[in-house]
Amino acid sequence: MINIDSALQTVKQQIATAAKNANRQPNEIILLAASKTNPPEQVKKAWLAGQTIFGENYLQEALEKIKALSDLPIEWHFIGPIQSNKTKRIAENFAWVHSIDRIKIANRLSRDRPKTLPPLQVCLQVNVSGEDTKSGVSPEEAAALAAHITKLPHVKLRGLMAVPVLTTATALQRSQFQILRKIYDQLNQDGFNLDTLSMGMSEDMDIAIAEGSTMVRIGTSIFGPRRYPIPEELAATQTIR
Ligand SMILES: *Cc1c(COP(=O)(O)O)cnc(C)c1O
Repeated sequence: MINIDSALQTVKQQIATAAKNANRQPNEIILLAASKTNPPEQVKKAWLAGQTIFGENYLQEALEKIKALSDLPIEWHFIGPIQSNKTKRIAENFAWVHSIDRIKIANRLSRDRPKTLPPLQVCLQVNVSGEDTKSGVSPEEAAALAAHITKLPHVKLRGLMAVPVLTTATALQRSQFQILRKIYDQLNQDGFNLDTLSMGMSEDMDIAIAEGSTMVRIGTSIFGPRRYPIPEELAATQTIR
């Protein structure tokens, strides 16, 4: 079994090295621990090792974990696909949402955010691989969705997120991150004031950091192999690997 404490230190070291190679400061890159399929005890181990930000993909699983760990001031991020009947409990239980990909979901999250809490911090998910099976707004539609979200009262647009197709071809990996970076830069030129580029997972973290990531979402390198396969991964076996 993986030692979460030393795995976390290794990931932080890798972030520092990747940042240095890209002439960036390590503290420009926030580490989100993607904890799906890992039980509360594993999350707690990571917390005790100093990790404070965790990302979850499945609402039911997440709610159980959030409850089990309610004594810890964890910052919970929702990073999975969102069905519209789930927005209320997402808006009530998370600090951030990375995976907004349509107006309806954005409207509902703003409407459902409890007014006693600060605005929900959100990213738009962009489909940078062009695969039909992937969630995310198309690169062409991202600016219009961003403009809509900035008008909503109880969400705060922080940036963009992408889950590129997993491939060992680094040029393809890089080009997908560059698509996201380009949209981000354009939106900021247009006055959006974004500060978050949520990209990079265990397999492609270094390239993502080289291409400007400000938040990497790391699961496997911290917690070890997932305890059960997730739907996205089953689907991914049918695409380029
Ligand atoms: C699972 C997941 C991650 C982490 O993936 P690893 O390859 O385990 O590091 C990051 N982002 C999203 C959206 C995920 O679903």
